[in-house]
Amino acid sequence: PHVNGCEVTGTIESLDRGPSALVPGQRVIVFPGFSCGICEFCQRGERTVCLRYGYLGAHKDGGYAELVRVPAANCLPLPEAISFEAGAALPLAFLTSWHALLVKAELKPGQTVLVHAAGSGVGSAAIQIARLTGARVIATVGSDDKIEFAKSLGAERVVNYRTQDFVEETKQWTNKRGVDVVVEHIGGATLERSTYALTRLGTLVSIGSHDTHWGRLDLRHVYSKNLRILGTNLGSILELRTLLDYVAAGRLRPVIDRAFPLKDGRAAVQHVLDRRNKGKVLVIP
Ligand SMILES: [Zn+2]
Repeated sequence: PHVNGCEVTGTIESLDRGPSALVPGQRVIVFPGFSCGICEFCQRGERTVCLRYGYLGAHKDGGYAELVRVPAANCLPLPEAISFEAGAALPLAFLTSWHALLVKAELKPGQTVLVHAAGSGVGSAAIQIARLTGARVIATVGSDDKIEFAKSLGAERVVNYRTQDFVEETKQWTNKRGVDVVVEHIGGATLERSTYALTRLGTLVSIGSHDTHWGRLDLRHVYSKNLRILGTNLGSILELRTLLDYVAAGRLRPVIDRAFPLKDGRAAVQHVLDRRNKGKVLVIP
């Protein structure tokens, strides 16, 4: 059977031969992307678009287990200041949002950002990273009980997308201007309408498709407003190391909804599918 689980922290049980700075018993966090190191894109230093790219828990057996086998090069020491739980909430959500906002969208202080689904892992991470940069954030949520949560992370304005029109709210919040950046991970009508919420020369970064893998665009908005539509996945292992520093310093806070014991892994996944979570859901062996 296949073992899911992309985001993993733990201690080193044993090491293969070969050079490694790791020692048995050491606390580590696993960088969840695997690349070949020899294809054209790896040679360009763009390992996340490796021709043979794979994810822990998707292309290899992952972390819903007591033991997991990963390359030593994918392990980073987990600082004592970061719990295993907080660390496990980091790799996908924070690394992807970090790379999307800072590297792809080149977010700058004072710019405005629309973050979808503040209750999700990427949403809760993107709000904090945007605020860390000195940007201002408008966020969407799917229920009113997540509004205060989004504000506590740093969102200045929060829109319930089920009862309010996020394009209208964004226009109003920015005095009709529109936002500089949208972090889009929903797809479908949300993708299309997100381009209406962008200002001229704005950037939409696509980092997922949680509702649907499809979306259409009114191309007149794209070319007449000179929009940038970018895609990205994950980030670099060095960026993960930088993130660990910010988390250890208390500048970024992984948001954990709740933890399930490993035997209840199915219930944990259903909890997320039902969208009952505010932040990450953990499975603890
Ligand atoms: Zn490669």
